[in-house]
This record gives sequence, C-alpha cells and structure tokens, in this order.
Amino acid sequence: MSERIIGSWVSGADGSPYGVTNLPYGVFRHDGREPRIGVRIADQVLDLAGAEEAGLVLAAGALRRPTLNDFMALGRPQWTSVRQRIVELLTDTAHRAAVQPLLVPLGEVELLLPFDVADYVDFYSSEHHASNVGQIFRPGQPPLLPNWKHLPIGYHGRAGTVVVSGAPIVRPTGQRATPQGPIFGPSVRLDIEAEVGFVVGVPSPLGDRVAAVDFADHVFGVVLVNDWSARDIQAWEYQPLGPFLGKSFATSVSAWVTPLDALTDAFVPAPEQDPPVQDYLRDTPHLGLDLRMAVEWNGERVAEPPFATMYWTPAQQLAHLTVNGASLRTGDLYASGTVSGPERGQVGSFLELTWGGTEPVKVGGGETRTFLEDGDTVTIRATAPGPDGTTIALGEVTGRILPAR
Ligand code: MN
Repeated sequence: MSERIIGSWVSGADGSPYGVTNLPYGVFRHDGREPRIGVRIADQVLDLAGAEEAGLVLAAGALRRPTLNDFMALGRPQWTSVRQRIVELLTDTAHRAAVQPLLVPLGEVELLLPFDVADYVDFYSSEHHASNVGQIFRPGQPPLLPNWKHLPIGYHGRAGTVVVSGAPIVRPTGQRATPQGPIFGPSVRLDIEAEVGFVVGVPSPLGDRVAAVDFADHVFGVVLVNDWSARDIQAWEYQPLGPFLGKSFATSVSAWVTPLDALTDAFVPAPEQDPPVQDYLRDTPHLGLDLRMAVEWNGERVAEPPFATMYWTPAQQLAHLTVNGASLRTGDLYASGTVSGPERGQVGSFLELTWGGTEPVKVGGGETRTFLEDGDTVTIRATAPGPDGTTIALGEVTGRILPAR
C-alpha cells in the first residue's frame, strides 16, 4: 500500500497559493510543440494531455485538445472526477514516478488563451461603480438609472478580441467629442475595468431558460478580466445603443481558469437586494464570491476592489442572460462589470480612481497619471479564501499599452 501524505509531493506546493486545493486549468506551449492543456501546481504545470495519453487520467480524450472547450463541455460530474484524480496524482507518492516527468517549470512555458471564446457578455453589476459613473457623467441627476436595481444591465461584446494576459494592447483610434465638434485620432482617455469573468462549459438549447440554481451545472470556472475602455470614444458613441468601439478593441483574460470546485470556501452571502427582484432572478442562497482583487499600475498597487460587494450575483447574471431563451454555448464568457467597493481605494477603473481625470494618482516609477500612457502596464490579481483558512490565487491579467497605429 502506498504512503498517503497530507499535502502534495510536488516541491513548493504545500503553503503555495497554487497548492492542491487550487489547480487552475490553462493551455500552454513548451519546446515549440502544439498547445497542450495543463493544470498549475506551485510553479509548475502538469501536462494533462500527457497524463491522459499515459492513462493516468480519463476524460474521453478531452484533455488532448488545444483548448479547454471539449473538457468544459463534459459537465460537472466529469469536472469533479478529473479534479479528484489530479489531486490523487499530486498527493499520493505512489504516482510520483509516473507524474514527475509530466511537470514542466512555469518559466519554460508560453501560456495561451485557454478556451475558444464563444459569445462574450459584459455586465455592470457593481452598485458603487454604477453610482460613481452616474455621478461623473450625469452630475446633479440620480446616480442610478431607474432600471438598475431591477435587472443586471449588460451588453454583448466582441468575442474575437478577447486576448490572453500578456498580450500587448494597441491604443485604439476613433472619434471623440470636443467643444468644436467630433475629431478623429488616438484615444486620450484610455482606461481599465477590473472584472471577474465566468466561463460557460455546458451549453443550453435555444428557447430554454437557465435557472439561477443551475449556475454550477453550466459554469466551469472563473477568469480575471481587464475590459480595456476608451472613455472618450465611449462617451461620444454610447447613446442610444451602448458600448461599441470604445470597448471592442481588446479584452484581456487571465491565462488560468480557476474551477468553481476550487472556490467552495469563497462563496459568501451577497448584499441584500431592495427592491425585491423578479422570481427568475431569485437565487437561493443568494451568494457572491469573496475575491479580493488588486490593481497595479506600473507596479504600484493603486486599488483593491472587493468582489464580494457586487450587487448582482453570477447566478443571477446567468439567469438573466438566458431568460429570453437565448442559448448558451461552450466557451461563452460573461464578465461581472467593473468591480468597485465603497472606498476610493477600492475602485476598478481609473475613471473613478481619478474622478473623471480630475484627480491624478501616483503610479510606479514616481510618476502621476489620470489615464493610461503608452508603455504603461496594468496588472490585476486576485485571491480567495481556500479550505481551512488558506488562500488561493486566481492568477493575473496583465497588459502593456502600445502606441496607436
Ligand atoms: Mn466592463
């Protein structure tokens, strides 16, 4: 009988925010070979394609694909059994000899976009963010529009411009308003939106609704999102149909998809909703996620948005986006909307952090900023409570601004 150890036999895993209670999925390239699915353990990647080829884990061949989509389509029972098997492989020393050769140092791999993005939806679910934006753009009027507490506001974004963390972001060019009339040129109010994205694994047929209680049957996991936003382009174009070119030039996601199974200890009661919501938006229990986010601007931590303060929950968002019968596809990504807490140091956009560009902030390198300049780098990270008082990390989403073309 093999020796069972409490933690992992992988060096550095115990006590790491990427220990065996985390195990996020990604897609990596190593040694110029084809993209492979892997799972992160400490500072290494377990080659899951290799593990499935060796018969160490069974997933109907879905782990031998260049993206996570086929695996995500398998559904929750398979997600959970594969995860349990990976934990076994990484904790039971009986498997060490077979598994060790499948570990690749993180520093040697290139991380790729982990899933083919099907449809992309972006919500607007932070009451603090919506109120701040309302005050900045519509001073003297009620900060929230009349519909805001009755439904999770959202729009359909551009799936084809979702890029993986690390991809450079070219400053967008477009129209913006000036007192002399609209002009055309590079955006001068380029911003971020720190968000959390939910990745759909199991699809739903056209015409069906997905109930809020079925959230965990459809949603595979979570990514960090930076919804880059050109505020000047956005302000001129957004009425009457909503965001368009001010958003669609790029949306960055983290390379690691944290499975919901790793976030069991992170679910917390969401803020109470008043007025009461329509029946289809009732989620019982009404739970959000206690993700603690951090925004770094050229290396300086400028904000710590608390995801637990979000007014609308991911289960409510899923119920809302399908209530009209719209189908879900494997690879659908829906993002929370900018995450902002009640304090200035908790906001998820520079629009709010600098109050519409009127209050510059200190960033790394001893400089000050209102909006992004060419060469700037923004990194968003997050952690969440794990089992037994531990902390897990949700990777990072980073991007550097290149000059307009
Ligand atoms: Mn957004």
